[in-house]
Amino acid sequence: MKFGGTSVGDAGRLRAVRDLVQTALPRAPVVVLSAMSGVTNTLFDAARAAERGDEKAVRKCQRELVERHRRAAEELFGGELPERLAADLRERFDELRILLRGVSLLHELSPRSLDAITSMGERLSTQVFAHFAAADGLDVEFVDVRAVLRTDARFGAARPDEVALRKLAAEHLVPRVRPGRAIVTQGYIGATADGLTTTLGRGGSDYSAALLGAALGAEEVQIWTDVEGILTADPRLVPEAMPIAEISFAEAAELAAFGAKVLHPATIQPAVEASIPVTVRHTGRPQGAFTTIRAGVTSERPVTALAARGPVTVLTVDSSRMLAQSGFLARLFEVFGRLAVSVDLVSTAEVSVSLTVEPDAPIPALVDEISRFARVRVEEGRAIVAVVGEHMRRTPGLPERVFGALRELEVEMISMGANEINLSLVVRHDAMPRAMRLLHGQLFAAQRTGDRP
Ligand code: ADP
Ligand code: ASP
Ligand code: MG
Repeated sequence: MKFGGTSVGDAGRLRAVRDLVQTALPRAPVVVLSAMSGVTNTLFDAARAAERGDEKAVRKCQRELVERHRRAAEELFGGELPERLAADLRERFDELRILLRGVSLLHELSPRSLDAITSMGERLSTQVFAHFAAADGLDVEFVDVRAVLRTDARFGAARPDEVALRKLAAEHLVPRVRPGRAIVTQGYIGATADGLTTTLGRGGSDYSAALLGAALGAEEVQIWTDVEGILTADPRLVPEAMPIAEISFAEAAELAAFGAKVLHPATIQPAVEASIPVTVRHTGRPQGAFTTIRAGVTSERPVTALAARGPVTVLTVDSSRMLAQSGFLARLFEVFGRLAVSVDLVSTAEVSVSLTVEPDAPIPALVDEISRFARVRVEEGRAIVAVVGEHMRRTPGLPERVFGALRELEVEMISMGANEINLSLVVRHDAMPRAMRLLHGQLFAAQRTGDRP
């Protein structure tokens, strides 16, 4: 059971989590918590302020963090904190103060220090929750996930060592898991073989849950959040988006990769490999709708959902002379490989190749390298809109409906994923919300008026 930031955001929500965990006790739950909502952002702000040497801003962040956790804990305990919890929190905050002090003295923030600092949100939220749930009569055991979730040393985007993880889970988790008891542990963070703290990247708690679920052979991975499952689009962009009852691993992976923030993009892989269903549920409405993600869901719907991501940068590489020659694409992509830039969409024509990269890609270096053998044009401020569905390829007329819906907008690039379940378009970033609403209206209106179970 993984609970996201808003689900652990204040005392009231932590009580709801406690109740859900209690209900799940017969199934021997392992509870994976995120940091309280906003806390990871504040930790990043504090670290960057320390790097600039802005002591005032650092203190402000620290005060906010202390306040936030104290307030939640005091509310949960009705005033006075138990001495053990108060001591644990003091210890965490002292550690954070020392880390930030070190950064500000040196004006240097290495990825390794940043991970030590940003791991604190999950370390704090789990402490507060574990103490509260135990005081409230649940059989809970806190396990520091760093003893289990072994990663490499790519700080900020650490990759799990799944072999070590399984071994460590067998050693530290399996003997503790049993019906009637809940294990409480942190999402997002891990540790290297040397014991250095790492993080899995923003939103990584979902990934932690799937990794732990797979290592334990869990019967289900539950992602508890603030929406009733995966919806047909991000409800912040498309308020009329509807919950999806069942979705395939492939579709969910595609949606996550193309911007559906409801799941971290890497979440699906461990679950697929271990054939564990993943469900996405609303912490505030546990009896409401939810989504089950599993292998090979068959549904007749032509389109499952939309996702959008931006801003991205589009590079268009022109080479009237060379494109048709063998080796040109190899040469082009060698540049991206060497500069460690990942490419999302690619679309090729006779004399040009267009591709999208993240806005923080080293554009000047890419342009410099590519210009040695081709012309390259850069367009910033674009967005990718993805239409995802297993049955898309067998639905005649779908491209017409997609382009018809977007008639009034300029579509700059089109790419059909090789797995044929994702049709992606590039539009201007400021037109992305409108593109999503138009597409949703066109592709889901019929489903809304009734021909949907
Ligand atoms: P948590 O803190 O629980 O991990 P996130 O904010 O990371 O929650 O993810 C939940 C949010 O994802 C929702 O509030 C919603 O705005 C957003 N979201 C984006 N795309 C979708 C989608 N297709 N279905 C549901 N939610 C989506
Ligand atoms: N707390 C981390 C973040 O905000 C991880 C997570 O919530 O999944 O990115
Ligand atoms: Mg999340």
